[in-house]
Amino acid sequence: MRGLHQPWSGKMKHNKPVYQRTLKNSISCVGVGIHSGKQASIVIHPAEENNGISFLRKDVPQGRGVIPAAWYSVTETRLSTILGNKYGTTVGTVEHLLAALRACGVDNAQIEIDGPEVPVMDGSAGPFVDLIKQTGTIDQKALRWAIWIKEPIEVRDGDKFAVIMPYDRTRITVEIDFSDLGVKPQRRSIELQDDSFRRDIAYARTFGFKSQIESLKKKGLARGGSLSNAVLVDQGKIVNKEGLRFQDEFVRHKILDCLGDLALVGLPVFGHYIAYKPGHALNVALIQRMFSQRSSWAYLPVDKIDQLLVEDAETESLDERVGGRASVH
Ligand SMILES: [Zn+2]
Repeated sequence: MRGLHQPWSGKMKHNKPVYQRTLKNSISCVGVGIHSGKQASIVIHPAEENNGISFLRKDVPQGRGVIPAAWYSVTETRLSTILGNKYGTTVGTVEHLLAALRACGVDNAQIEIDGPEVPVMDGSAGPFVDLIKQTGTIDQKALRWAIWIKEPIEVRDGDKFAVIMPYDRTRITVEIDFSDLGVKPQRRSIELQDDSFRRDIAYARTFGFKSQIESLKKKGLARGGSLSNAVLVDQGKIVNKEGLRFQDEFVRHKILDCLGDLALVGLPVFGHYIAYKPGHALNVALIQRMFSQRSSWAYLPVDKIDQLLVEDAETESLDERVGGRASVH
């Protein structure tokens, strides 16, 4: 069967990294968690091939601190994404750091942390991207595998929705609407390639609405939030003296959050993620739907995907061939 649409038809071969990557050296930083208000330091170490990304809480008894950065580790999605393991050890607000690692092409790393929440830094992923770029990444020997979307996968929650469509690279399109809180709708689409994430998305900060902050603080959330790590909006006006970094900083930050949550898949995803009013719960629901809708995607080495894309520019049905080759997984 031919796919619903064929955005890859006739495309040239793309320059996608074919081998897994890790960091050249360990990197570290210290800061406060936006929700817990607790200080933590993180040290990100290079990791062996096929290890993926995992957290290691250093402040809990040995053997209880490992938490894979994976969708099945998610324990909470209210305001940030929190991961946990069977011992009840958790690590919060992982999304900005995971977005930075994914966008920089880091497949394998271990993140040591001595507290319950990843430091929020300036509210963006910029400081993490800068650290990764400073130390650099190296290619490993094992091939990089990826998930390649073959048919649309969709979740809905009221008027919110998220769908991932077939596409030969990674693209994220988000629309937000906080009209009731004084922020007009914003829409942006980004293709994850070259320096686009660093240039357009990484430095967009998290944001909050003054009318909601008090109730969050009463619930024990946003304790570490301040004007140095979040944009505060009061009836449509920006409270921060420095103003915005981008005129549409909010939708850019939502794209950052979507990419961070999508990193919980554990592999690069070749598809077009389109979301209307997304949040962490919707993003994680889409990943869960994807793993339950197994026939809608293929699991393939990146070089194989490129090869299929080039061949498909000729005549054969890509879906059939991918379906055949991927059926062993
Ligand atoms: Zn965020």
